[in-house]
Amino acid sequence: MTRTYRMRRPVSAGSDERSYWIQSVRDRDEPYLPALSGDHRARVAIIGGGLTGLWTAWRMLELDPEADIAILEADFCGSGASGRNGGQVHTWFGSLDFLRAVVGRDEALRLARATDDAISELEELQRSGRLDMDLRLEGFVNVSVAPAHDGGWRDTIRELDALGDHPYEWIEGASAREATAAATSREGVLEPHSGTMHPYKLVASMRDDLLARGVRIYERSPVTELVTGGVAAELRTPDGSVVADRVLIASNAWAGSIPQINRVMYAVDGQVVVTRPIPEVLDEVGLRPGRAISDSQMQVLYLQRTVDDRLLLGQGSGLPIFKDCLERRTNRNPRLEVEVTAELHRMYPETRDAAIDYAWVGPIDISATHLPIIEALEEAPNVLYCVGWTGTALAQIPVVARMLAAKLLDVDDEWSRSPLADQKGRITKIFPEPLRYIGARIVRRAVIRRVVRERTNRRIGWVTRSLIALMPRYRGPGDEYVPPKP
Ligand SMILES: Cc1cc2nc3c(=O)[nH]c(=O)nc-3n(C[C@H](O)[C@H](O)[C@H](O)COP(=O)(O)OP(=O)(O)OC[C@H]3O[C@@H](n4cnc5c(N)ncnc54)[C@H](O)[C@@H]3O)c2cc1C
Repeated sequence: MTRTYRMRRPVSAGSDERSYWIQSVRDRDEPYLPALSGDHRARVAIIGGGLTGLWTAWRMLELDPEADIAILEADFCGSGASGRNGGQVHTWFGSLDFLRAVVGRDEALRLARATDDAISELEELQRSGRLDMDLRLEGFVNVSVAPAHDGGWRDTIRELDALGDHPYEWIEGASAREATAAATSREGVLEPHSGTMHPYKLVASMRDDLLARGVRIYERSPVTELVTGGVAAELRTPDGSVVADRVLIASNAWAGSIPQINRVMYAVDGQVVVTRPIPEVLDEVGLRPGRAISDSQMQVLYLQRTVDDRLLLGQGSGLPIFKDCLERRTNRNPRLEVEVTAELHRMYPETRDAAIDYAWVGPIDISATHLPIIEALEEAPNVLYCVGWTGTALAQIPVVARMLAAKLLDVDDEWSRSPLADQKGRITKIFPEPLRYIGARIVRRAVIRRVVRERTNRRIGWVTRSLIALMPRYRGPGDEYVPPKP
């Protein structure tokens, strides 16, 4: 049966609303790649020129250098979350519990190790000069900032020790404060083989490399309709169309206009602010360049000192987006900007006089498992989608892209057979609208209450706890880690 989906077009950010990453590399009037015009054919068509789309094309070329691939990007490659994120690169070892629940312990470990390999691969791609990304492996630090969060990492470290993996160093007290240059840090982990990157440089150099190898990439080419149901699917843009044997929907939160995808993912805003260059202040604070720092709060704060000595701070605001309709507010939101700047000044009072040069919002696609979901559309086994990165993707996409590439090219291998690539029966459905939006706003208020009370070491009431428990969570069968008795 033929089915036509209407796809949403992103609202392009104005050139002043673009992220620091984009503005630091891309001229305001840099030309776009040519838009799709006329009717075309491709073996595989990808909707979305972010890192999911680009890495999948990269992996497909590894499997088949002649693969005939077309990528359709609504704005320009990297204009979505891939060019707007916090630039933190770390493994999936910290998500071992989420992974274990969905794919079992052995596969969880294999995938976490694969993200460590992906970081080595990025390092090598940069070292060889093939890709540009300002990758600096100065470590990833995650610390508790309230007594209520203490101990969170101990079980993970104990479990990894028992399995023979030691990606983390334990830090506490003075060493935690020194690692983060923040007085509020209590205890946590340092993962040395991790760090930061310039995500838009990565996107731009991957785009150029793929173009040189024959991948067709069209910009300013929003897919407005997707027609499924035949042996091939058709993607329609305002001025053209592509008929493809296989399709990958890699359009992040914008994919929520497809009902099946909307049921497994919800979109929230993430806010980032960046100061002007303040090398002396950051030296005085003791913030190490290139290190990725984050905390264990539910509204996680993450930061880095950029290559040009700015302080970048981001926060998962958790502000829900009604029906996943991303509009102008999801490019720039003055209210969130003020809130995150206040957090910056609370953590690092020395930065109070530093002007904020850049501020932007990016969409975060959240799944109940906190892991990406790979699935085919119900009536169209030849159309795959991949969403649900939940804010952890830079070392993870290169791994998952192996699964996507193998599935799109019908290659039977350890990646296409990964339980993560076939989560049937383990995908948690999210409440439908308008219940989801109303619920998410109420839960967000409870989360903020909890964050504030935890910081001041106050008790969390049962109403707050019960409301937070309403957050979509994976409750299916899965391996549980039972810590050994002390
Ligand atoms: C504020 C923020 C901070 C983050 N920080 C980190 C971090 O520090 N570390 C980390 O690992 N991850 C982080 N993430 C997550 C990470 O950036 C994303 O998970 C990842 O970039 C998703 O890549 P993607 O290609 O799936 O999506 P995107 O990069 O959003 O790409 C999707 C593309 O699809 C295009 N598109 C949409 N609709 C259509 C259509 N109809 N037709 C054609 N094209 C369309 C969009 O224009 C967009 O370019 C962060 C995300 C955000 C938003």
